[in-house]
Amino acid sequence: MQLKDKVAFITGAASGIGKEIAIVYAREGAKIVIADLNQEAAQATAAELKAAGGQAIGVGADVTDEAQVEAAVQAAVAAFGGIDILVSNAGIQIVHPVEEFSFADWKKMLAIHLDGAFLTTRACLKHMYAQGRGGSVIYMGSVHSKEASVLKAPYVTAKHGLIGLCKTVAKEGAKHNVRANVICPGFVRTPLVEKQIPEQAKTLGISEQDVIKNVMLKETVDGEFTTTDDVAAVALLFAAFPTNALTGQSLVVSHGWFMQ
Ligand code: NAD
Repeated sequence: MQLKDKVAFITGAASGIGKEIAIVYAREGAKIVIADLNQEAAQATAAELKAAGGQAIGVGADVTDEAQVEAAVQAAVAAFGGIDILVSNAGIQIVHPVEEFSFADWKKMLAIHLDGAFLTTRACLKHMYAQGRGGSVIYMGSVHSKEASVLKAPYVTAKHGLIGLCKTVAKEGAKHNVRANVICPGFVRTPLVEKQIPEQAKTLGISEQDVIKNVMLKETVDGEFTTTDDVAAVALLFAAFPTNALTGQSLVVSHGWFMQ
């Protein structure tokens, strides 16, 4: 068991990528805090993990709300006595051409992806530093942390921004043995992506099949979606890595869509 008795606080873990990471971490012995806007789904996911023999709690929290984030982290510490791993993963997608993006949607996107990452990082770091046993902070970036696509201005902007936050946390956290990394997945067929397929088809005036084949998977080496398993394997690598050698790094997991 690579994460035995570690406490992992994972945002947006009631669905998709975050949920798979929670399952893998629990299997590796971690105690899991599922923090999600959807409290009912967070608790249901925690119940699934417990039914499989793990330890988990589900808490409702909006990552853009300072008080809710602080309360969720307090609940985690009260339940499990500390925090060793943060996976800042909660996210949404809104697609429009720049000239049609409402300012409200722009701000909503930056709030979830960047304010959420900052608020959860700040709340968890205080505990990691005080505990004195190191820690791992993992941000869910995207190929869009490195590359742009049409219609996704705030998403691309925010995902690039996470790399800056990660590098800063890697430098500041080093003396506390806290590491920071970004995972940069290609397209993963979660609810977030299912929603985009018809939206992009409409905006680009092409079929849904064309969106999948010629927009989402066009640059991959094998025409395959990245899977939640692919991403969770990288999340385990970063969380369990035994030294500071990889801190500050981002890793693209995209079936060859984007190569560094
Ligand atoms: P998903 O829709 O399956 O899950 C996202 C979860 O985040 C949901 O449970 C949702 O309730 C939660 N959430 C949304 N807003 C929140 C908020 N304000 N506070 C707390 N929780 C909130 O999506 P997913 O595809 O698993 O995405 C997870 C992360 O992975 C996102 O950051 C996304 O940008 C990133 N990502 C996804 C893909 C992909 O192709 N699916 C690719 C690269 C990166």
